[in-house]
Amino acid sequence: MAQQPELKHAAVLGWPISHSLSPRLHNYWMKQYNITGNYEAIAVAEQDLQLFLQALPKKKFTGVNLTIPHKEKALLLMDEIDGVARRIGAVNTITVKNGKLYGTNTDAYGFIANMKAQMHSHTKGTAMVLGAGGAARAICAGLLDDGWHVCLAARTRNKAETIAAHFKDNITIVDWQERAQAMADISMLVNTTPLGMKGQSPLDISLEKLSPGASVYEIIYNPLETLLIAEARKRGHAVITGLGMLLYQAQPAFEAWFGVKPEVTPALEQYMQEALI
Ligand code: NAP
Repeated sequence: MAQQPELKHAAVLGWPISHSLSPRLHNYWMKQYNITGNYEAIAVAEQDLQLFLQALPKKKFTGVNLTIPHKEKALLLMDEIDGVARRIGAVNTITVKNGKLYGTNTDAYGFIANMKAQMHSHTKGTAMVLGAGGAARAICAGLLDDGWHVCLAARTRNKAETIAAHFKDNITIVDWQERAQAMADISMLVNTTPLGMKGQSPLDISLEKLSPGASVYEIIYNPLETLLIAEARKRGHAVITGLGMLLYQAQPAFEAWFGVKPEVTPALEQYMQEALI
């Protein structure tokens, strides 16, 4: 009798988790690359994370992704973490191998890969990052490693200071109130706050001082076109939208688990966009 292919089992863990688009994305690729198994969203509360992760080998998981609020705590729960997760200070991807948990972080990769996919040529210089949360930390790592200077503006200044200190002060801090004024010398503006997201107020910022050659990168993907992106387009700036970051950050995880580097195609983007309408 022919042997049945081994079922692969992967998931995203978070709290809350029902909004996650990761199952839609990974199951699309699993079908495309003939990988038998499934990827599901599992609600895991903060206090249950350790036990849940310890049980992954026994439950025969190939790997899991982590989202809010687990990324930082997971650093201490891995058998091994790589340099990227250590540099960012958070784990978003775990691979289970020989009973051990290996943690990495693919958010910086996703941010930079999406930027390169959407902008075929760009002048590196200073990028201004708005917000100092988990996404900002990964994005700062990605930008610094890609050769950018970063200036960081956050309404809670000490969070920006913590990130700057973590990256050995290769980051300039700009007062939140000064963000619009400080834009004259930057070549890219990046919004990492939730402002502009469905159900939130729009990002309150004037692009008046932004030089015409500068680009605007929005990491929010719901809606696909925020008011910031619409305003930037109207003023003639190159724009980078956020859905691609979500798709590209999943690429290395899928490859680590299933041995195939999946493609980000227009058909996949269209399929993911349909879930956002
Ligand atoms: P987070 O850790 O909660 O950080 C949010 C940051 O935004 C904090 O610095 C916060 O400041 C700031 N902020 C919140 N409300 C603000 C307001 N009204 N005015 C000024 N600043 C405000 O969140 P995160 O994980 O970094 O995620 C941020 C956003 O990025 C979310 O919308 C998330 O969906 C999106 N995201 C997208 C991708 C993607 O793949 N495209 C990946 C990751 C995240 P305080 O600290 O002062 O509250």
